[in-house]
Amino acid sequence: MRINRSLRLGIGAIALTLAATTAACGGGSDKSALDNAKDGKLTVGIKFDQPGLGLRNKDGSYSGFDVEVAKYVAGKLGVKPENITFKESPSGQRETLIENGQVDYIVATYSINDARKQKVDFAGPYYVAGQSLLVKADNSSINGPDDLKGKKVCSVKGSTPAQNIEKNYPATQLQTNDTYSLCLEGLQAGSYDAVTTDDIILAGYAAQSAGTFKVVGKPFTTENYGIGLKKGDKELRDKVNDAIEAMIADGSWKKAFDSTVGVSGYQAPTPPTVNRY
Ligand code: GLU
Repeated sequence: MRINRSLRLGIGAIALTLAATTAACGGGSDKSALDNAKDGKLTVGIKFDQPGLGLRNKDGSYSGFDVEVAKYVAGKLGVKPENITFKESPSGQRETLIENGQVDYIVATYSINDARKQKVDFAGPYYVAGQSLLVKADNSSINGPDDLKGKKVCSVKGSTPAQNIEKNYPATQLQTNDTYSLCLEGLQAGSYDAVTTDDIILAGYAAQSAGTFKVVGKPFTTENYGIGLKKGDKELRDKVNDAIEAMIADGSWKKAFDSTVGVSGYQAPTPPTVNRY
């Protein structure tokens, strides 16, 4: 009897220690996104280096279409923009950040696909992009993916454009970095012949380069941008889908696009229809 009791106490102590360790580990939280929203704050994953979409400005503020979408959705969940903590979410880390509870949701040029849906859920799509190519302005030999044989092409680890090149254009010398800004440095330095990712991301880099880089060819994939969130949180996904629909319906989607990506002359397409799978 005495042994049983002390055993029980011991197990209880271990369980408590474990719970405390898990909560303190890696900044992750066991709380659901909607519970965090009820407390008036959210942590949202975005890109920090994609002008027009998700950008951390020199003064520490954030701008871009994804940032506007993130804020609109937060507003519908009852959270003010100043109570959002933005967390950098590089392409290859997005599923892990969501699975570990380090972000409540991610708005970061994040294509919906089946492999990712094994690990996370998606609301949306809220935008449809397509893979394209960025080269130096004086390059005339690369005009589409069929010109990439033997060329050094940079993309980002864990991104769908990198996977597409690996699978469907195996004669390309694919090089991968953690972020697109590292690819751009290499393109500028002449270490790469092209950078590949979605057209809308490359358009932002071309605009920023003021004539050094250009986007070539037609988009050659379909990238449905979703808002990534915890797998199985249907209540959150429904609410985020409602928010995306409202953002499109009340004109905020177009306004956000025109004031971000649109500033460099990129025309807003017709918005997509949210897919309630
Ligand atoms: N949309 C693609 C993806 O989700 C490319 C852009 C990115 O790496 O964020 O992988």
